[in-house]
Amino acid sequence: MPSSAYEAFITRVKEISTARAIEAVLEWDQETYMPPRGAEQRAAQLALIAGLAHQRLIDEAFGAALAAVEQEADPDPVVVTNVREMRRLFDRAVKLPTDLVQEIARTVALAKTAWVRARKENRFADFAPHLERVLELKRTVADKIGYTTEPYDALMDEFEPGARAADVQKAFDELKRQLVPLVRAIKDAPRQPNPELLTRPAPAAAQAAFGRRVAADMGFDFEAGRLDVSAHPFCSGTSPLDVRLTTRYDENYLPASLFGIMHEAGHGLYEQGLDPAHAGTPMGNSVSLGIHESQSRMWENLVGRSRPFWAHYFPKLQAEFPSFAGVSLEDWTFAINTVRPSYIRVEADEVTYNLHILLRFDLERQLLDGRLKVRDVPAAWNESFKALLGLTPRTDAEGCLQDIHWSMGILGYFPTYALGNLYAAQFFRAAQRALPDLDLHIARGELRPLREWLRENIHRHGQRYRAHELVQLVTGEPLTHAAFFEYLTKKYKPLYGF
Ligand code: ZN
Repeated sequence: MPSSAYEAFITRVKEISTARAIEAVLEWDQETYMPPRGAEQRAAQLALIAGLAHQRLIDEAFGAALAAVEQEADPDPVVVTNVREMRRLFDRAVKLPTDLVQEIARTVALAKTAWVRARKENRFADFAPHLERVLELKRTVADKIGYTTEPYDALMDEFEPGARAADVQKAFDELKRQLVPLVRAIKDAPRQPNPELLTRPAPAAAQAAFGRRVAADMGFDFEAGRLDVSAHPFCSGTSPLDVRLTTRYDENYLPASLFGIMHEAGHGLYEQGLDPAHAGTPMGNSVSLGIHESQSRMWENLVGRSRPFWAHYFPKLQAEFPSFAGVSLEDWTFAINTVRPSYIRVEADEVTYNLHILLRFDLERQLLDGRLKVRDVPAAWNESFKALLGLTPRTDAEGCLQDIHWSMGILGYFPTYALGNLYAAQFFRAAQRALPDLDLHIARGELRPLREWLRENIHRHGQRYRAHELVQLVTGEPLTHAAFFEYLTKKYKPLYGF
């Protein structure tokens, strides 16, 4: 029986998350259906609701409610989880003075505008002073929040609670040691795919129908979710019963929408798999961005770009899209697994992608602790890029100016993308061990057993475990590069014939 102090605390927690959910719906609408002239009013609506949510969190009354349940020290895991995670959010919020938060908001607004122009005109020097200022403020944030080893940990904690840069570095170092030669072997391999197959005409309406069907087969519940169109695809979950996915359709490049939908539906299944009984509390929330990304990447790559998946779906694709008639299953599977070092992270394939992240992680850490000066970023970027991917960016626009993150003050976020890939491979290997017929199921278009396994082992736990605990619990080992590398080798060696 929950205590009255706990009930009062949970009521406040749910108010905060309800405000956040309203914010998410407004943002979803802004990206999908809002007419352009609604932008100004929407900004005011979003600012108000975000402010209200923040006020409720830092409210003294909330602090008191939190302290009261901490006093009771109830050992129930649900209580322990909700109290621990709200304490973490509360401390992060109250440790940052309002004037610092406002100063960051002003700085990044200017930095973002400067970044857009600097990228367009390819002049890093114009962005450099803004980046200096952003770093200065983020160092202050890290100091205020506190850390034991290095400032980077305090920033990464926002996205991957409990993660340590030193542990991430260890996994990334091992990964780099094996990945660089693998990329070279693929590049020099005797057999190469024909990516032209991917650009055959595919009407948007048929893409939408096909994508919806695959998402439904994955177990995405369209009675508790939607799929719409936006310029930048995303998944927004306000409760397990209302999950919004978006995609975009390129009529000359079907993989963008198909793998995009599988990716976002992977995120969506996680949101729908959370326990509705705990909605609005940490027990009903996802663990971290890295764990979230493991779900999307697993469906997109380990399932969606696999041979068993296409054994079932390729004949269906051909029936819907006449332009793919006469293409063999082998050629198709090879083409969707085209690996090629390229400059732009968001366009990278699953093999080279992590190298883009390793580079950013390394530079961010150096920038934050002062080992790297902002003016030296372009040279450091290019040198590192050459070492990792064998290419030298021709311009800063396709090098160190390509991502929006730093201009928005988002540091410590990039590693979660690569962590997602590593976790995905670890989880999938565990799923294969637990479900010996998994590949057979997938080859018959039966995708539900995997969803059930993920729901049971990952989704339903909410934030009960931190990412590193969850990985240990589900796979029996800590974060490692090994499963991911094993997956890549097993897949790409036979494809490319080396
Ligand atoms: Zn994602």
